[in-house]
Amino acid sequence: MNVFDALAKREHEQIIFCNDKGSGLKAIIAIHNTTLGPALGGCRMLPYESEEDALRDVLRLSRGMTYKSAAAGLNLGGGKAVIIGDPKTMKTEELFRVFGRFVQSLGGRYITAEDVGTTVQDMAWVWQETDYVTGINHSLGGSGDPSPVTAYGVFEGIKAALDFKLGTDSLKGHTIAVQGIGQVGFHLLHHLVPTGAKIVATDINPDSITRVNQEFSGIEFVDPDKIYDVPCTVFVPCALGGIVNDDTIPRLQCQIIAGSANNVLAQEDKHSAELEKRDILYVPDFVISSGGLINVANELINYERSHAMEQASGIFNIITRLLHIAQEDKITTLEAAKTLAEHRIHDIGRTKHIYRGTSIIKRGRGIR
Ligand code: NAD
Repeated sequence: MNVFDALAKREHEQIIFCNDKGSGLKAIIAIHNTTLGPALGGCRMLPYESEEDALRDVLRLSRGMTYKSAAAGLNLGGGKAVIIGDPKTMKTEELFRVFGRFVQSLGGRYITAEDVGTTVQDMAWVWQETDYVTGINHSLGGSGDPSPVTAYGVFEGIKAALDFKLGTDSLKGHTIAVQGIGQVGFHLLHHLVPTGAKIVATDINPDSITRVNQEFSGIEFVDPDKIYDVPCTVFVPCALGGIVNDDTIPRLQCQIIAGSANNVLAQEDKHSAELEKRDILYVPDFVISSGGLINVANELINYERSHAMEQASGIFNIITRLLHIAQEDKITTLEAAKTLAEHRIHDIGRTKHIYRGTSIIKRGRGIR
């Protein structure tokens, strides 16, 4: 792969290749766009088959973060890091501290966090070397588990979609099918159950089901593969990516898909168009799940859970807006979400020609 061609293709700003023989660190940091603020995005650790695969992944994911932050109304840009290696065998304190030193050397252009293959514990090592890490433990002054905030954002997104499609945001009497009752799904039930909705849920992990049964009553369970066939108003994927695909779409009996699972459409353009054709309203996952990102962004400005929750409630208005854009411009909801993000980057970027002194961090307004 020609690196500058790859940068130019999706307009990435910068790629940093990090190498350290002693710790075995081989990492790539990609900064896609910093118009709105520092590039924030997690650090993945995976045994990529080739360096080219790792580069392709970090370029794709960092661009996705630009859209996610912009659509969520955050003053953050898009970035991502990948560490090439097996997380089961190659993790050491030394490796993550070296990674932290590379992050620090970027002076805040990139802010890291945990992601697939890395943990909050790994980020505690990173934190020892850099100011630019978020999503760390309560004990280190971090925000802890983001899933309650993610779940609240998903709940607001479900109501916005219902309001748009059916003219009411009341869930009473509607059937909601939830796939995956792990962290996000479990916290989501705390919002869904009191609404009087009928809830049908599934999970492959019996422990998740036991936990839900201990906390709630009246939830109906189906086998994991049967969740696609449940006649319902809203299908809420909170487990895996890629589950809305050629096989499952013909089976879906829902009016709305709105859940936290990342990359839920197996093929974005093809499947968002297919859902549109079937009159199923798809709420783009990167917008409805942005409560997690809102949570870690709040950690950068003196974290208070109540403030993060309040900001996550804004997901209702963001989704309402993007659904109207989709309707008016006759485009898919996915295209509308991207349009919304692009407009914000363009409009806020334009304001930056006004010189207003040195950058400041103001509580409640995010990084400026
Ligand atoms: P989790 O691992 O805690 O929960 C996922 C649950 O799904 C588990 O209980 C698992 O057993 C279940 N599951 C896996 N495969 C399944 C299948 N085939 N059928 C039914 N259930 C299945 O994860 P989470 O933190 O709750 O996140 C859920 C999804 O939301 C993930 O895709 C994640 O990337 C995304 N997400 C999470 C957050 C967050 O704050 N945690 C933020 C944004 C996006």
